[in-house]
Amino acid sequence: MNSAPYVGRFAPSPTGPLHAGSLVAAVAGWLDARAAGGRWLLRMEDLDFPRCEPGAADTILRQLDAYGLVWDGDVLVQSHRDDAYAAALAALQKRGAVYPCACTRSQLAAAPRNHEGEIIYPGTCRSGLAAGAIARAWRVRVPDVNTRFVDRIQGELQQNLAHEVGDFIVKRADGLFAYQLAVVVDDAFQGVTHIVRGADLLWNTPRQMYLQTLLGLPAPGYAHVPLITNAAGQKLSKQTRAPALPETGRGIVMAHALAVLGHAPPVELSGAEPAEQLAWAVVHWKIGNVPTRPAVAKPAQAPDNLTDP
Ligand code: GLU
Repeated sequence: MNSAPYVGRFAPSPTGPLHAGSLVAAVAGWLDARAAGGRWLLRMEDLDFPRCEPGAADTILRQLDAYGLVWDGDVLVQSHRDDAYAAALAALQKRGAVYPCACTRSQLAAAPRNHEGEIIYPGTCRSGLAAGAIARAWRVRVPDVNTRFVDRIQGELQQNLAHEVGDFIVKRADGLFAYQLAVVVDDAFQGVTHIVRGADLLWNTPRQMYLQTLLGLPAPGYAHVPLITNAAGQKLSKQTRAPALPETGRGIVMAHALAVLGHAPPVELSGAEPAEQLAWAVVHWKIGNVPTRPAVAKPAQAPDNLTDP
């Protein structure tokens, strides 16, 4: 892990307003940074613009402010950073670490999937495109080695990229740079030393660490906080119609987020303003007390009339 002064970040995708699950990640990241006397930066991950919702970025800034989650410096916006991602792709091309891929979604439909439901790329274009095939995306060649890293909350994760993920996309067929590449480039650009985010991204981490190695970037420390699910066990998200953080009763919502993180405030503080609760929690913050298992949202935070996306 990096010994530089602590720099953390929160990197929401403006696909909708923050919900109870995103609040837990933001609160954990804020507390971990502030308890270490560090900075906490903000990045708007609006790279996948077809999925972004107009106005959501502004809503997120207002919500963070209302919940006492003050960030440092200017907000970095991914849609302004194409040149940096293109330079990283060029560096990968130069060292022969990536190759063009012509496979369509339907051609890959029968490929095996990993336990996350992701297609394990079968390597079709790895040794060159078939005659007449048109390059659509760029993929990174991954090694057949077992890697491991120790997450500060979830403990050890072992993964073999070749067997469990396959060569993965860094530039998509629609011309957009992939999240895996952008996140690594931006974390390094912002000097991030510690990443705290939702456990749904734990499985992506070895891919990002591999890109850091290829690009000669420092590896930050990682901590993946428990997800919040609805009663059906689904992660709260726009697809599962998680409601936006409420504008009233914020003290109750903050107390719940802190309880999910194993840092329930004392009863006399549980209805207090979020900033007051955060001030208490920052003094008591111990990342070792954060549970690993998902928590179920309170009924008001997860409607039970859910339908599939
Ligand atoms: N933008 C991602 C999300 O909102 C988070 C990415 C990250 O923290 O690495 O789920």
